[in-house]
Amino acid sequence: MRFHLLHCPVLALGPGRRVGLWVQGCSIRCEGCMSRETWPPGGGESIATDRLACIIEGFFESGRADGLTVSGGEPFDQPEALMRLLRSLNVAGVRDILVFSGYKMENIALRHPGVSGLVAAIIDGPFELGGETEACWKGSANQAMTLFRPELSEIYGAWAEAKKGALQVLARGREKFIAGIPRQGDADRIRESIARP
Ligand code: SF4
Repeated sequence: MRFHLLHCPVLALGPGRRVGLWVQGCSIRCEGCMSRETWPPGGGESIATDRLACIIEGFFESGRADGLTVSGGEPFDQPEALMRLLRSLNVAGVRDILVFSGYKMENIALRHPGVSGLVAAIIDGPFELGGETEACWKGSANQAMTLFRPELSEIYGAWAEAKKGALQVLARGREKFIAGIPRQGDADRIRESIARP
């Protein structure tokens, strides 16, 4: 799998303390996307999915994470690698996996029918500039959350009610990344401020 960033803990992209995996490559290319550095499919780093699953499992085994959030980039642009990773993590007992996708849920379900048994929730739909929303879990009002694990409905229900708030700045060397979803009106200012040396 090609990925842009792997970090733990991530506190602003899903309920609780999470592993954050930002995959590399997005063919959807929404106007106003905050993650344009993840678009080129050849960017980022390449890692075998077995190795990636092992690293992620390590975060859970050491008690540092309650869940995994897969974002990007577009996770379903690497469908074989994504499904392999999800299967491995399920075998290892990881139950709380949240996936963000710019594809619509009906297309995801049609193309990848097995995914609903492997994830806790999917947040779907392209980012739409102009569709401002206060919800902490989405970038534009058109996006929707589908929950697949009823036993997690309480924690996801509480998170879905939360308004936009704190973001997390992650650093890798001199590069900085934002974890979390800002208001559309704040996005450019935040990108500019983290780009400053
Ligand atoms: S699908 Fe996500 S990563 Fe891709 S362009 Fe849209 S917002 Fe950006």
